[in-house]
Amino acid sequence: MRGNASGILHPVARGRGGVAVSHNKNTKDCEVVRMPAPQRVVLPMQQHIGAPCEPVVKVGDKVAVGQLIGDTDKFVSTPVHASISGTVISVAPEKIANGRVVPAVTIESDGEMRQFEGIEPPKVNNREDFLAAVRASGLVGLGGAGFPSHVKLNYPPEKNVDTLIINAAECEPYITVDYRECIDNSWDILTSIHLIKQYLGIKNVVIAVEDNKPEAVTELQKIANQKADTDNSVNVMVLPSRYPQGAEKVMVLSATGRKVPPGKLPADVGCVLMNVASTAFISRYLKTGRPLVSRSLTVDGSAIAQPKNVRVPIGTCIDDIIGFCGGFKAPPFKVIAGGPMMGISLVSTNVPILKNNNAILAFAEGSARIKPERDCIRCGHCSQACPMSLTPTNIMRYVKANDAEKLKKASVMVCMECGSCSYSCPAGKPLVQYMVLAKNIVREADSKK
Ligand code: SF4
Ligand code: SF4
Repeated sequence: MRGNASGILHPVARGRGGVAVSHNKNTKDCEVVRMPAPQRVVLPMQQHIGAPCEPVVKVGDKVAVGQLIGDTDKFVSTPVHASISGTVISVAPEKIANGRVVPAVTIESDGEMRQFEGIEPPKVNNREDFLAAVRASGLVGLGGAGFPSHVKLNYPPEKNVDTLIINAAECEPYITVDYRECIDNSWDILTSIHLIKQYLGIKNVVIAVEDNKPEAVTELQKIANQKADTDNSVNVMVLPSRYPQGAEKVMVLSATGRKVPPGKLPADVGCVLMNVASTAFISRYLKTGRPLVSRSLTVDGSAIAQPKNVRVPIGTCIDDIIGFCGGFKAPPFKVIAGGPMMGISLVSTNVPILKNNNAILAFAEGSARIKPERDCIRCGHCSQACPMSLTPTNIMRYVKANDAEKLKKASVMVCMECGSCSYSCPAGKPLVQYMVLAKNIVREADSKK
């Protein structure tokens, strides 16, 4: 890894593709404000990649903040905890942002936000204790992925992981909560890094930040230099701001020069990646035993009256959060859960915030970058923009022909749905939607074999 006189590392390699997006980090100077407890929360039993939880409470039960309300014995899963105190009024399926209906526990607030009495810091003496504590905390990737963190950190020893990459790129436009984490909670980030190093025995740590966040770079570097780091193994790397710099495979290449092969994980090339806010949470949990019951998110966009960074109980209705931000100042034309590149367009805002939702964006008509769809002009911009070297035009054709074999040969399963192809298309083709359809066609064909 190459550094300069100030100790800042530079990327080792540059991947192909990507797009230059407007950053619109309008809320970067807005400190996170805590939203008062809502009247009720809806806590879906599946807020993560993997198996759903089973509710462990029933209608009429009194619950307190941090109390376990859903769990499973499946490994790829993570428990769910009450985010407000009150009474369980429903254990029934509810709709979530992606339109799916999943089992959920609804709690009516008692207005007290009573903390669960059984909360205490976990006892952690070794790797197994550490991984068990991360699981018990309910932590998932807070950057949008929603992958259970204990699974990510529990890589097999034979993978020889030598590098922990802390992802503070936050390359999606508008979103600034990871930036705020770097500015406001840098000690939590560094303390967590040393805990992960200690219990997992990882040698090198790279905190990767895009160059459009110079204050975050300065803060993290200052803290990294102050913390006892005798072997100088924790370093800050400044990456060029080019979307999707924060995508796992792109970041591994930039930070280490290692290429993650198709179908493989970063651990297969000796790396583990953690979102910066997820990382900071670990030290807070080990200190207090308070599980993941709230999260920070950016609320912004041309239709929002008072854009903010706000901390809300998990399960708060998106309508309530928008209300806390002054409501709509113009009729919303498009509301997105997440960033404009990879977020989900909402049909209804009457859905709960999940652990992995890092933003709500609402745009008034005329302000969103929506191009009318025209015929493909074969310009090739979509292929040039693709970080995974795919040819979206061919994939679009094979989707229309419902040809699973050709889609497989076109390697569509490596698509990370980053949206760079759609963004760069002058003909307004919804290419990323074709990629999602393509993967479904391949999965369905495989399931019939
Ligand atoms: S969405 Fe898929 S096909 Fe499109 S640029 Fe991203 S990785 Fe490539
Ligand atoms: S970017 Fe759009 S117009 Fe250009 S080749 Fe791709 S699909 Fe066709």
